[in-house]
Amino acid sequence: MMSEHEQFMHAALDEARQALAGGEFPVGCVMVADGRIVARARRCNSAEGQRNEIDHAEVIALRRLVAERPDLDLGTVTVYSTLEPCLMCYATMLLSGIRTFVWAYEDVMGGGANLPLYMLNTLYAQMRVHLLDRVLREESLHLFQEFFRTGTYWQDSLLARYTMAQTVQAKP
Ligand SMILES: [Zn+2]
Repeated sequence: MMSEHEQFMHAALDEARQALAGGEFPVGCVMVADGRIVARARRCNSAEGQRNEIDHAEVIALRRLVAERPDLDLGTVTVYSTLEPCLMCYATMLLSGIRTFVWAYEDVMGGGANLPLYMLNTLYAQMRVHLLDRVLREESLHLFQEFFRTGTYWQDSLLARYTMAQTVQAKP
């Protein structure tokens, strides 16, 4: 039986698949409150020519969430990302009050969720976060392997080499 975490990660993976289909880095994100998806997004503008490091899935989802649900207590939100959040997204979500993060595939190159908060300034040092990794990892890994076969973003990077060296187990 599929766990609740897996159910929401499947929704994030759907977003990642749509990003991949559009030639974008395959990262998807859904934000959940009270057992329901309250925002969803995928990576935009990772493709050559229009590339920026702002339109990450989490930032887009968060912008939608605060616009559409300004009264929602973000401390009740769980974020599901198909790739470990980067430093920008993680810090942005922390500053916004989000404390619970679930992701599928580890970002060995640019992941930010291992940030030692206790070593930072007061605001961050007092934060208590809940982290859960490797939920549907193989599904997400598979999308990144697809991407790195042809994509130009982060090609030949540590993340690309690590990703292509992983073995995806065949589905029964
Ligand atoms: Zn990010």
